[in-house]
Amino acid sequence: MIVILLGPPGVGKGTQGKILCESQGFRHVATGDLLRAARREGTELGKQAQAYMDRGELVPDEVIIGMVEELLQSLDADAGVVFDGFPRTVPQAEALGTVLAKLDRQVDRVLLLTAPDDVLVKRVAGRRSCPSCGSVYNVHFNPPAAENVCDRCGEGLTHRVDDTEETVKNRLDVYRRQTEPLVEFYRGTSAGIGEVDGDQPVDAVQAAMKSALA
Ligand SMILES: [Zn+2]
Repeated sequence: MIVILLGPPGVGKGTQGKILCESQGFRHVATGDLLRAARREGTELGKQAQAYMDRGELVPDEVIIGMVEELLQSLDADAGVVFDGFPRTVPQAEALGTVLAKLDRQVDRVLLLTAPDDVLVKRVAGRRSCPSCGSVYNVHFNPPAAENVCDRCGEGLTHRVDDTEETVKNRLDVYRRQTEPLVEFYRGTSAGIGEVDGDQPVDAVQAAMKSALA
């Protein structure tokens, strides 16, 4: 089964995608991980990607698609795959369709995770993490017992500079413009769209995702 996870930044695609893959034995595919692996292994596409990044440029679609194709070729013909954060645009979705068709496969299901904008902003802008032990908190939903201090190890918590309210709103704008058109794109295919309310406890979201795949 080939599954695509769609949804705005902060909705929990990464967390939910990983849990789903662990329980179902699916392969979790995020393009950031593909890029890191290709660079580490020094593949031809990894070198090309590195050259763009060294110049401070975005890695073009054809390089990303090439990496996705290499990965799919390396998997069993019936392997379950969950794409998280890819495709991001309609042209990427069209290119993915072409790659899958070559392998006699197709996108089987698209899950759309949703949450209100104010929740997404609080989730991302409220995120704090411990540089020492890696614990993650949220000042709105999961605050540490003492302000800005890690419960587990007592270290001061840090806030990523790009996790501000303003940058989250910008990322949401980009999502609406570039990625949301994919909802209509896939609604018109046999994959269809399974909509899941992402504004619930992690377990409830996961259960809803599984029933949307059944
Ligand atoms: Zn800590």
